[in-house]
Amino acid sequence: ENSDYFTVDEKIIDRIFKPRKDFSHKGTYGKVIIAGGSYGKIGAVVLATRSSLKTGAGLTFTLAPRCGYEVLQISCPEAMFIEGGAEYIEHFKAEDNTVYGIGPGLGTHAETEKGLLEFLKEYDAPLVLDADALNIISKNHNNLKLIPERSVITPHPKEFERLFGSTENSFDRLNLAREKASELNIYIVLKDHHTQIITPEGIVFYNITGNAGLAKGGSGDILTGILTSLLAQEYSEEEAGILGVWLHGRAADLASEKYSKESMLPTGVINTFGSVFEELN
Ligand code: AMP
Ligand code: MG
Repeated sequence: ENSDYFTVDEKIIDRIFKPRKDFSHKGTYGKVIIAGGSYGKIGAVVLATRSSLKTGAGLTFTLAPRCGYEVLQISCPEAMFIEGGAEYIEHFKAEDNTVYGIGPGLGTHAETEKGLLEFLKEYDAPLVLDADALNIISKNHNNLKLIPERSVITPHPKEFERLFGSTENSFDRLNLAREKASELNIYIVLKDHHTQIITPEGIVFYNITGNAGLAKGGSGDILTGILTSLLAQEYSEEEAGILGVWLHGRAADLASEKYSKESMLPTGVINTFGSVFEELN
C-alpha cells in the first residue's frame, strides 16, 4: 500500500530530467499547440505559450481567436499564431511529436463548447486539458469519456469538484481522483498547496515545491505550458507530470526569494525557469 505514494525529491527529478543533446535540432524537441484565449482572457494563452517556449519545446504554436493575434505575435515572437477559436481545432489531427494543451482562457461559449467536444470525439492522442476545457467537459458527465486515454488533466480543487463531484475532505478527494484516473485511464494533476500527480495505475506523487505566491491568476496557465512542452519533448506522461509540477514550484520558490510571495507574478516565475534548468544541468 505504501509503495503507491511517493514524495517527489531531487533524486526522482534527476532520474527524469534529460539534458539537451548537442546533435539536435528544433524537430528533436517536438511541437506544441496551445489552444485557448478569448476576448479579455488572451493573457492566459500568452502565459501558457511563453511557458512552453521557456521550457524547451522545439516549436510552439498558439491557436487563439483573432483578437489575440497582435498581442501574441508581439509578446511571444518565437511562437506561431493559428487563428481560430476552439471550433477550428478540428482541422488539426494527431501527428507524431505534436501535443495540444487546451484550455487557458478558452471561455465556455456555446460555439467553443461545440468545437472542443467535436474535436475530442475525433482526436485520440494524449493531450493536456486545463481550465475552461475542463469546465466545458464538466457540463455533461458523458463528456468524460471523450478525454483521450493517457491524457493529463490539471484541475484545481473547484474544477475537480465540477468534474467528479464534491468530497468531504482532501483524503476522500485523493481517493476519488485515484478511482477516476484508473477508470478513465488518465493522469490527474490535482493542483493544491501540495499538488498530487495521480497515475492510471493509482500511484500518487506528492510535490512539495511551490508556495502561496502562486495563489494568483495565471499560475495554472503556466503549468499547462510546461506540461505540454515536456510531453512534446517525449517525456512520458508520468515523467512530464512529476518534472513539470516540481519545476513550476521550484521556479516559484526562487521567484518568491527574489520578489516576495506578495509581488511575484506568473511572468516572473516563467523568467526563473532558466535558474531551475541551470540547477538541473
Ligand atoms: P490555477 O488555480 O489554475 O491558476 O492554478 C494555481 C497553481 O498555483 C497550481 O499549480 C497550484 O498548485 C499553485 N498554487 C496555488 N496556490 C498555492 C499555494 N498556496 N501553495 C502552493 N501552490 C499554490
Ligand atoms: Mg487555472
